[in-house]
Amino acid sequence: MRAFGSETRVPTLVAVLDLIRERGTVSRVELAEATGLTQASMTHAVRKLMALGFVHEVGTARSGRGTPRRLVGIQPDACYMVGVQFDRFISVGVVVDLAGRVVVRRELPRAGERVPEAVLPELAQGVQSMLAAAGAPRDRVRGIGLATYGPQDREAGVLLTQQPTPEWRGFPLAAALEEATGLPVTIENDATAAGIGIQALGGSSSSFAVVFMSGGIGSGLIIDGHPYRGSTSNGLELGHISVDALGPDCDCGNRGCLDNIAGPIAVSGRARENPGLAARLGLGQDPLRDFTEIGRAAVAGDAEASELIDTSIQRLCVATVTLVNLFDVGRVVLAGHAFADVGPLYREALQDAFDNTVFMRQVHSVKAELADDVAHAASIGGAMVVLRNILESQNSVGREPATG
Ligand SMILES: [Zn+2]
Repeated sequence: MRAFGSETRVPTLVAVLDLIRERGTVSRVELAEATGLTQASMTHAVRKLMALGFVHEVGTARSGRGTPRRLVGIQPDACYMVGVQFDRFISVGVVVDLAGRVVVRRELPRAGERVPEAVLPELAQGVQSMLAAAGAPRDRVRGIGLATYGPQDREAGVLLTQQPTPEWRGFPLAAALEEATGLPVTIENDATAAGIGIQALGGSSSSFAVVFMSGGIGSGLIIDGHPYRGSTSNGLELGHISVDALGPDCDCGNRGCLDNIAGPIAVSGRARENPGLAARLGLGQDPLRDFTEIGRAAVAGDAEASELIDTSIQRLCVATVTLVNLFDVGRVVLAGHAFADVGPLYREALQDAFDNTVFMRQVHSVKAELADDVAHAASIGGAMVVLRNILESQNSVGREPATG
């Protein structure tokens, strides 16, 4: 049976819709059995999803000698959501339909070192062009989920950092993109979005942590199918956990932060101090592209590249074991562009660290995995955030309806 966690946590329309998506076609009775909801509550939930146009009747199935059960399924083209993962070094977008299928995926303009006023019109144009390619009717496009870095004020839709230029701090990012596209915009922590994307790609039944590496390193947590956001969506900042108490000062105020030792900016910076390696790998682009080259060289057996990547892996393992020890998860999934090529090396080392050093290993094993769509998990998650917002605004469905 599918577990929904503590009894006080009520299953939501999000969970019911996820389950219908997973099963394809399913009866209300099966949905009630799988969720532990009463049949009356499930009937109520399915009615709400039908009223939204998200779910429809798709025929009947007979089981045993009982009366035939009516089956429901998702209406894939009932709505479309846009997801964008955006930072200094990378910007990618997807258009996702209600069935969770990626209809269009594109590289979009990234921030680079530019001011927001220069970037936003290009980003908006990229979104419009993706929607045109998707052929999605405009009235069915429900919004944009912008997965991006922090610190951020999710509610206000603004970044609270001077990266990449001072103008970004406090810039009304969500409002500006909303005005430029005419679509509602929600911002989301990129690592949390990756968790939501992984959930959409691979089923929603579990609890797991995400280690996300793009321009920087972050992490996210999904508990019983729900993203854990802390009090302001700025928790689980794995990149700013200290892995060296005497290490270099960080802009965040801490010392020896993981990001400054193991992240793409740190690794590519160290590689460029070695002119032979830098020339051999054609480094000197931006840190994420350089990191990708170093990672590919390490995978191919280049000794100098391997040494740099090994240091990054070792420190990331130390921090991730801490993450597992704090939250007692059974699964850690890697996502983000930085893991696209070199991910298997990190995954293997993490599995070894989990098998030998996590505190609870005699109680349960901890699995290290690579996300199915490692480079797009966060953008897909951004799109799914839009859907979650719609469903969560319809209220939870755990309580019995007043009348049948
Ligand atoms: Zn820091």
